[in-house]
Amino acid sequence: MRRISILGATGSIGQNTIDLIARAPQEYRVVALTGAGNIAQLADDACRLGAEIAVTAHDDRLEELRTALSGSGVDAAAGAQAIVEAAQRPADWVMSAIVGVAGLAPGLAALRDGATLALANKESLVCAGSLMRDTARTRGATLLPVDSEHSAIFQALTGENIADVERIVITASGGAFRDWPVEDLHKATLELASSHPNWDMGQRITIDSASLFNKAMEVIETREYFGIEPERIEVLVHPESLVHALVGFADGALMAHVGPPDMRHAIGYALHWPERRALPVERLDLARIGSLTFRAPDERRWPALRLAREVMAAGGLSGAVFNAAKETALDGFIDGRIGFTKMAEVVERVLDRICAQPGHIDATMTLDNVAHIDHLARQEAGTVIQKIAG
Ligand code: NAD
Ligand code: MG
Repeated sequence: MRRISILGATGSIGQNTIDLIARAPQEYRVVALTGAGNIAQLADDACRLGAEIAVTAHDDRLEELRTALSGSGVDAAAGAQAIVEAAQRPADWVMSAIVGVAGLAPGLAALRDGATLALANKESLVCAGSLMRDTARTRGATLLPVDSEHSAIFQALTGENIADVERIVITASGGAFRDWPVEDLHKATLELASSHPNWDMGQRITIDSASLFNKAMEVIETREYFGIEPERIEVLVHPESLVHALVGFADGALMAHVGPPDMRHAIGYALHWPERRALPVERLDLARIGSLTFRAPDERRWPALRLAREVMAAGGLSGAVFNAAKETALDGFIDGRIGFTKMAEVVERVLDRICAQPGHIDATMTLDNVAHIDHLARQEAGTVIQKIAG
């Protein structure tokens, strides 16, 4: 039986992972499930799957979790450190599906323990790519991509030599406002930004898909995961969200990965890798779909893409600054303090300020230094948001 832990089990990726595991319970032993505020879901899943331990990120919800688990034999724990400890419990496969930089320390802890880490938490690679890669290498751990685009690239590269790759193209749906006039974007509401035309995901990544901050993060993720130069990474708007990525080789061939917009494909591929097994996802009827369309992204509409290029050029800890400023700006949009288009402005101002000061982004990439610069960038973003909100 394979030992499995799911970090961020109550979220969209976590629930899709549980869906796959619950279809073949005899194959898996669930070690740890972690969540945050949704205690009922966490406790239900932990009991149903017979987990060893369930952990909530919120210290003050421990009693509630204990009560929900009483009599089940499942242990309960709470707090950020307890999540790191849960991630370190011996397991063969760990899903990293916490949202935000909060996923970095637990994912890193699982890698230190030599686990196979299925990585949905793209923030880990954006903030600390070389730390994640080096840890995997030195601990003999395996890092598998779960983002649909990166799983697609990984699959297209199987049996190929990365030296033969000319370019990698990741697609973007364009999100909720792809067809709005640019001048109207400032009117985008939280409600509209929270509904994705094709994918069913957590609220934060859905809004990031509308601003293309998600795609900007994924460009950096591509660079960090596959080690390819930034100028070889392209973004293509593809409203149907059926082609997830394309890899262009030296002979001019483009290998495309085509599949339904269902994260159980990328999760299942990582779960069964290196095997490929049957998955409960829709089979595409391309004759019925008829046509697939593509267009170049307009950077005036989506400044996040330009900012991602600036981050890759700056290097060092600039990805952690970018991510922290983005997370804080997103909070500001969700709370109604700033408008949709102001998010990119906040991120740009924070990047300009922190990257220009010596000793910040050029510090060594350690968990402590990432946490420090994350804190600085959040403070700076808070100040900028206050100024904008007046
Ligand atoms: P979600 O909001 O649905 O779920 C997030 C999970 O993280 C929940 O279990 C929540 O309890 C937990 N969590 C939140 N804050 C936490 C904290 N401070 N400490 C510990 N746990 C915390 O998010 P999601 O859509 O499932 O996305 C999870 C990750 O996967 C993100 O990094 C996202 O970018 C990535 N991802 C998601 C999708 C998707 O289809 N949803 C696709 C590709 C990549
Ligand atoms: Mg993606």
